[in-house]
Amino acid sequence: MSAALVTGGAGFLGSHLCDRLLGRGDSVLCVDNFFTGSQRNIEHLEQHPRFDLLRHDVTLPLHIETERIFNLACPASPVHYQRDPVQTTRTCVLGAINMLDLALQQGARILQASTSEVYGDPDVHPQPESYWGRVNPIGIRSCYDEGKRCAETLFFDYHRQHRLEIKVMRIFNTYGPRMQPDDGRVVSNFIVQALRGEPISIYGDGQQTRSFCYVDDLVEGMLRLMDAEAGIIGPVNVGNPAEFSMLELAEKVLRLTGSRSTLDFKPLPGDDPKQRQPDISLAGSALDWAPRVSLEDGLVETIGYFRRLLAT
Ligand code: NAD
Ligand code: UDP
Repeated sequence: MSAALVTGGAGFLGSHLCDRLLGRGDSVLCVDNFFTGSQRNIEHLEQHPRFDLLRHDVTLPLHIETERIFNLACPASPVHYQRDPVQTTRTCVLGAINMLDLALQQGARILQASTSEVYGDPDVHPQPESYWGRVNPIGIRSCYDEGKRCAETLFFDYHRQHRLEIKVMRIFNTYGPRMQPDDGRVVSNFIVQALRGEPISIYGDGQQTRSFCYVDDLVEGMLRLMDAEAGIIGPVNVGNPAEFSMLELAEKVLRLTGSRSTLDFKPLPGDDPKQRQPDISLAGSALDWAPRVSLEDGLVETIGYFRRLLAT
């Protein structure tokens, strides 16, 4: 049994990670300030004997006992990370420093939930880990993109300078149950709009692409990276390489929900990447990991979740 700290544990990915860790016998301390997380995501864990919750902001130092730190705390949806961009950079950078200091003090291993956003609007396709990216340092996405890039720098410097055991995971667009209905990301927006019979909001011409990974696959990749031998530090891309345009996604959501919603074309937000697809050969060779859930199967699960949620 291992004592794991999950920052951002009341969020979408964090709550699924808590489930998996508890399910395999670990004890879990979930640390969250509920900026985008929700009590609903973890209420089924509150009575669990190996689960604890600490309401805390990772921009402040933390002193507790732990063996493994999963650092997920950070709003992930553009709508939310742009709401208070200075706080987003603080969360990425100060949050990383505080968790790295804690790992150092505890002799703990630490994993960073980094992102495909470190590649920006890429001119290399698909994106391998060796690609340095094309990121605007002063745009509306920069608080998140540059914050996450700086966090990666900090992880590697703590590793080089202090020999800390680190793991850096570059997560590509992930979806599934427990996304917030007002999260603002494309999969949850389209499903909620389709179920309510509201117009589907397509930003730009809808030809931009993303590669969508189902949450269960993602969490499996995260656990494999954390458990991998110390020499495997990353960065490692984890995502589903099947690539779809936003119009294709809308068509699937409409078909699977049976909705008659119309399409509503809206302006494309600034610096919105035109295409994104992970090169996952490293995750395959180093972690023996590959996604298993198709977009259609994952959408069926996610639609079922939102159907139940909206009915309550
Ligand atoms: P989410 O918004 O659902 O979860 C983030 C959690 O962090 C929330 O519970 C929020 O309340 C908490 N949080 C935010 N700021 C905090 C702070 N200062 N102190 C403590 N807690 C704080 O997002 P998610 O999709 O679950 O993403 C989790 C992590 O994975 C994030 O770091 C995100 O950057 C990364 N990631 C996610 C995706 C994706 O597609 N879901 C893609 C790339 C990277
Ligand atoms: N998008 C859209 N309609 C929405 C929300 C998003 O067309 O209601 C587009 C958005 O412009 C982007 C893609 O869907 O091109 C993915 O957006 P999301 O916010 O989910 O993730 P990210 O842009 O961070 O990859």
